[in-house]
Amino acid sequence: MIYRTSASGGTCSSNPTIYNFQFGKVNCTILSDGPTEVAVNPFSVPAPAVERSYEKNFRTAFPIVLSQNVLVADMPAGRAIFDTGSFLLPQKLPEFPLFENAGQLMKNLRAANISPSSIDFVFLTHAHGDHVAGIVTEGGTKAFPNADVFIGRREHEYWSSPSLSSTSPLLTTDALDSFAQIYLDAIRPYERTGMFHLVDTENSEATPVEGIRFMSTFGHTDGHCAIEMKSDDKRLVLTGDAWVSTADQLQNPEWGFFTENNQTQAYMSRVQLLGDLASTATLAVSYHEQFPGLGYVQERGAFFEWVPLPPQQLGFGVKKTC
Ligand SMILES: [Zn+2]
Repeated sequence: MIYRTSASGGTCSSNPTIYNFQFGKVNCTILSDGPTEVAVNPFSVPAPAVERSYEKNFRTAFPIVLSQNVLVADMPAGRAIFDTGSFLLPQKLPEFPLFENAGQLMKNLRAANISPSSIDFVFLTHAHGDHVAGIVTEGGTKAFPNADVFIGRREHEYWSSPSLSSTSPLLTTDALDSFAQIYLDAIRPYERTGMFHLVDTENSEATPVEGIRFMSTFGHTDGHCAIEMKSDDKRLVLTGDAWVSTADQLQNPEWGFFTENNQTQAYMSRVQLLGDLASTATLAVSYHEQFPGLGYVQERGAFFEWVPLPPQQLGFGVKKTC
């Protein structure tokens, strides 16, 4: 499935931010938007349970350091970017300092020689700021001036509604209103120019562009979608925030996350998607797994394991001239 890989910085730097690989006929690059650092327990179980699970995975909790992995794919239909990072989120959401070191997507696109004007399509898994804030510049203009932007219809309609509510005990109306404002500001320049499109996921019309399919994985947000990209009849699935990361919601799918609109629905969607990925050995790009977030899911009874693409396939450990 993967014919050729290389990791910029993987063998030459301790802080890789750009990762190239080929999926079928599609040249792909995963770019880091920088880390999110979660200092306070964001899960629905007591902090010691989170610490134990993280320790078991040789990771530290509080802060929980999560990656933000953005895929650029040169599909036959055009060049696509999947989610857009959290540019300027600390200014927009001062009550959430966890994005202080994020918002690096544009810098890393430049480093990878990918011009924002070369992007034809932006596909959004959902409307949370760490996934959409990067589609506008500091001045509120389009960050991707030639791109058509796509998001699920249900997701857009939820955040456009005048009175927002969720079943999560931690999501206040004020927080939801702030999230909605960030999203609506981000899409506005694309709406004004007719370059903003809604994808129906309730029926078979979930294919806005040849090779792309939106998959309903509602719950994290009201209309959250995973996005499937096909090449040579193989699937690669962008999982968005269907789960956060290995040590939390992958190994403990029943754990809720504080920004989940509906934790029960999120759990059901998560288990269904993880079961699908595991049973079909489908390659996945996870937004918040450790960079580059490229790997497979294995089912282990009542929970799941994340299997990062093996180092040999990732291109690490291959002698390179730095
Ligand atoms: Zn996220």
